[in-house]
Amino acid sequence: MGAGPGDPGLLTVRARDLLNRADVVVYDRLVSPATLALAAPHARLVDVGKHAGNHPVPQGQINELLVEEARRVGVGGLVVRLKGGDPYVFGRGGEEACRLREAGVPFEVVPGVTSAVAVPALAGVPVTDRRCASSFHVVTAHRRAGEPLDIDFGALVRAGGTLVFLMAVSTLGEVCAGLAAAGMDPQTPAAVIERGSLPEQRRIDGTLATIEGRARAAAVESPAVLVVGAVCALAPHLDFHSRLPLAGRRVIVTRPRDRAEGLAARLAALGARVDLVPCVETRSVPPVLLAPVVERVPEFSWVVLTSTFGVRCLMAALDAAGRDVRWLAGARVAAIGSATAAELARRGVRADLVPAVYDGAHLGVALAEAAAPGDCALLFRAAAGTADLPDALDAAGVPYEDVAAYETVLAPEPAPEGLAAALAAGAVDAVTFTSGSTVEGFAHLFPDAPSWRLVAVCLGERTAAHARAHGYQVVVAPEATVDALARAVAGVQFSA
Ligand code: SAH
Repeated sequence: MGAGPGDPGLLTVRARDLLNRADVVVYDRLVSPATLALAAPHARLVDVGKHAGNHPVPQGQINELLVEEARRVGVGGLVVRLKGGDPYVFGRGGEEACRLREAGVPFEVVPGVTSAVAVPALAGVPVTDRRCASSFHVVTAHRRAGEPLDIDFGALVRAGGTLVFLMAVSTLGEVCAGLAAAGMDPQTPAAVIERGSLPEQRRIDGTLATIEGRARAAAVESPAVLVVGAVCALAPHLDFHSRLPLAGRRVIVTRPRDRAEGLAARLAALGARVDLVPCVETRSVPPVLLAPVVERVPEFSWVVLTSTFGVRCLMAALDAAGRDVRWLAGARVAAIGSATAAELARRGVRADLVPAVYDGAHLGVALAEAAAPGDCALLFRAAAGTADLPDALDAAGVPYEDVAAYETVLAPEPAPEGLAAALAAGAVDAVTFTSGSTVEGFAHLFPDAPSWRLVAVCLGERTAAHARAHGYQVVVAPEATVDALARAVAGVQFSA
């Protein structure tokens, strides 16, 4: 199965479906972690990656491993052999398939998006163009240790099409010299594209004469493709990736894992390399422990919810108590904002009260105004919730009971490997914070991060206050939505 050039969005639908059902996934070095993350949770992942310098798993052993794994899973089982790009483009897929046929193991081939075509395209180079290239030629520039390159440069130059060289990083100089010696014009446009389709994608432009020096100066590493031909001159016009506002920027998303996706996707669409670092996690109090409180709902005139998570906790507690939303019928329901109200509406409950400004203080004031004498409120919210809501009720003399339905855990996971070093080196441009607790969780995870270097892009003034207290440069999103937050990141004038 081909995995494409790295971005899981470039997997085929068939590849994704099979990956999602696989019992075993045998994968190569070029397969990205994000692609492997699409494997079924029960799948066993086997790395046969070929690390340059390190000892690769020899091809013969991989062939036997595939046969063994196939026999182990047996009829109805599924072993996926996942390769970068397309399995039959310099992927040795043919050899593996021959061995399976010989061993009587049934197989199918799922073609992939090959880097030979996709990587140039993603960097603005069409491999053919009626105006200047009527063919393209894909060549491996891999050389066995100690041997010269086995490429017929004369034939390639005579063909006159676009030349795409894979595995060309270490042999760049020889390839260019070979083409020049075979008569190619040294002014022929050329480009090297590194880590195509991934957030770190880079394109280096030059000519046959200059591209090697420029690529070396930029410290290009594998995987990269070398493209030589007139089509490379189109790259500055057609490269859409480097035009994105956050191209080349690295941004950390600190939201809880289950709520990070929307923001991460928006930032990635703006060109950013996104690191997911969940800095807080919301954990519900076990619903059975909340059931006794829920039993007493009829004693209250108001049930007050301050988050969508609180709504979900309330519903789980109702369920644990053997009740359903009808149990709330005698009470009025207040929601802190539109998202909480929408979550209630999804459960069939229309909020009776939503304050004009979505925060605890305004909710408290609105509630005090709407409450009749003798009303009592049940606050169903976070443990250690902010004081502004109870303060407002106290001030107005409205009695209430404050129930801790869930708690916020700071830094629930260890920091991803290498990120502390990247922060120290100034390689991270911005961190997004959606609550004060995400700021505190981040500071807890990275106590040594040089805060003055980081732009903290914050949702809301309360979050911003936490970030300022830690010494970050702060930008506040103009509205309290992830869309506005992502746009605020894109609007930052980064210093370098
Ligand atoms: N079967 C693969 C190619 C395997 S050879 C395919 O069809 O794409 C490995 C070479 O592919 C690398 O040395 C590099 O030249 C190229 N390559 C693969 N992924 C790449 C990427 N994301 N960016 C740039 N080059 C890539």
